Amino acid sequence: MTKEHSDVLVVGAGWAGLAAADALQGAGRSVVVLEKARGPGGRSATRRHGDWSFDHGAQYFTAYTEDFQLAIRQWSEQGLVSPWAEPIHVFGQRPNHISRAEREGSLTRWVGVPGNNAVLKALSDRLSVRYQHKLTELRSTNEGWRVEVEAGDQRQAFYAGDLIITAPPAQAAELLGEAHPLFEVLNDHPMTPTLALMMGFDQPLALDVSAAFVNEGPLSWFCRQSTKPGRDGEAWVLHATPEWSQAWLDQPQDAAASALYRAWAELLGVIGSQPTFIQMHRWRYAQSDSPLDRGFLADPRSHVWVAGDWCNGNRVEGAWLSGRALAEALTKSSFSRA
Ligand SMILES: Cc1cc2nc3c(=O)[nH]c(=O)nc-3n(C[C@H](O)[C@H](O)[C@H](O)COP(=O)(O)OP(=O)(O)OC[C@H]3O[C@@H](n4cnc5c(N)ncnc54)[C@H](O)[C@@H]3O)c2cc1C
Repeated sequence: MTKEHSDVLVVGAGWAGLAAADALQGAGRSVVVLEKARGPGGRSATRRHGDWSFDHGAQYFTAYTEDFQLAIRQWSEQGLVSPWAEPIHVFGQRPNHISRAEREGSLTRWVGVPGNNAVLKALSDRLSVRYQHKLTELRSTNEGWRVEVEAGDQRQAFYAGDLIITAPPAQAAELLGEAHPLFEVLNDHPMTPTLALMMGFDQPLALDVSAAFVNEGPLSWFCRQSTKPGRDGEAWVLHATPEWSQAWLDQPQDAAASALYRAWAELLGVIGSQPTFIQMHRWRYAQSDSPLDRGFLADPRSHVWVAGDWCNGNRVEGAWLSGRALAEALTKSSFSRA
């Protein structure tokens, strides 16, 4: 079994994990990021199939805080993000939780270029990120954390003084175990699922509406991907509501895909156009119904730190700020071994 040491280990190469890793590396810590997927992004990943590309998780991001606005300005100068001004239609009754800026039409929606993981790809290029490395076991030792990882058919061990976890709360709880002080808060935080349908067509569809919030039936959202900069091909992403997703999560996915396609085709009056490519993705832990307002969680005595959107008001902005706040606290912590 190979072994590797660093000051800090970060589990997860999504917004929270890479924000923390980047800030800690900038502060002079040696950092290794472990990610079970094949690339960065987590719930803001971009998937490609042939000429089609799909942001099948987060669709766009907004910036309500000055810190995130500043970050977005810098990424915009680097060509990694761009405003997305596609009109968004609303089917059904408009929910009352939309923000004032959104109501007044002054909200800027940002997207990554050429995919929503563009910023994370750029960040990960200057970090030490190990993909297809799934953390399966943790052990606290006298020198720090010993972490066991499944990497293909091999097992590897990583050692670090401090451990940052950005996996969904239930999974983080399972990794840490019942005796850990953070177990309860993690274990008591459910996340709702989203079924996401990706559809690729050979020909452009003559439709007036390209993006919509849907407040009736099984769908909650759909978007023609080529309305975003840098995306080619006639590719669509459809999201189901949390309730519908929960009911269909473990049902045959072909039947779920047909039901979502039909709901979308009926709403837009699509007749006869069938997708050449169709694939469902199950986001089992898509979002929190009751996100915390705590920035991040920490148990500095055991050198465990937890970040993620659900600790900090949800969404991309919340995840990014959660990772940054955690990194700042860790660098100042008198308990930190890093
Ligand atoms: C369908 C959907 C639509 C959304 N739409 C929007 C939107 O329009 N705007 C918006 O702002 N936000 C949106 N969001 C929310 C947004 O995607 C999240 O807030 C953000 O991506 C969360 O980032 P994170 O770093 O906290 O978590 P994640 O992105 O979930 O990152 C956690 C990472 O940890 C990895 N991981 C987990 N367990 C392990 C393990 N054991 N070992 C190694 N790695 C592990 C995962 O693979 C993942 O990459 C949406 C989310 C979904 C699912």
